[in-house]
Amino acid sequence: MIAPKYDRQPARRRTIGEESKRQVNAQRAGVLERDRYMCVAASLGGCMGDLTMQHRAAKQAGGSALYDGAGFLVAMCWGHNVREMQDADLRRKFIANGWSVAKWMVEPNLHTGVPIHDISEIPLLYPDGRWYRNFNQSFGQAFEPDGVGLMVRLGIRSGGVHGQEVVF
Ligand SMILES: [Zn+2]
Repeated sequence: MIAPKYDRQPARRRTIGEESKRQVNAQRAGVLERDRYMCVAASLGGCMGDLTMQHRAAKQAGGSALYDGAGFLVAMCWGHNVREMQDADLRRKFIANGWSVAKWMVEPNLHTGVPIHDISEIPLLYPDGRWYRNFNQSFGQAFEPDGVGLMVRLGIRSGGVHGQEVVF
């Protein structure tokens, strides 16, 4: 006999915020290993505190669990995570390096449900000076030989003078 549906419901439904926190916790170990237990912004210097999970697409309070996939999370020290929110210049640098993304780029379209860019398409710069694209469904990465060029093509970085790299 099939149990009535209500028997299988949890005692209390999780709020969206709780669900999100649970998902992020489940991803933490995989993200830390993929990111080699280093703050992704370490090349800037000034790392501070423990490694945290940085959401590349900034979440509002109680934000959607849509943005908790492996491609949306990176290891970042507490200091850089907090300073990004307080410093507009630093935030621009984060976006240029793919550590943060503008939410409208990855937000599902209201009508089609499809975002402009899948988060896995947007590369990010790692402390070893190389660019990678992080898969959203697993903790895999793809080396991106022309990260700056790809960021220019995606319209995230400007082309610079004569196509040269913009120095941030
Ligand atoms: Zn750091």
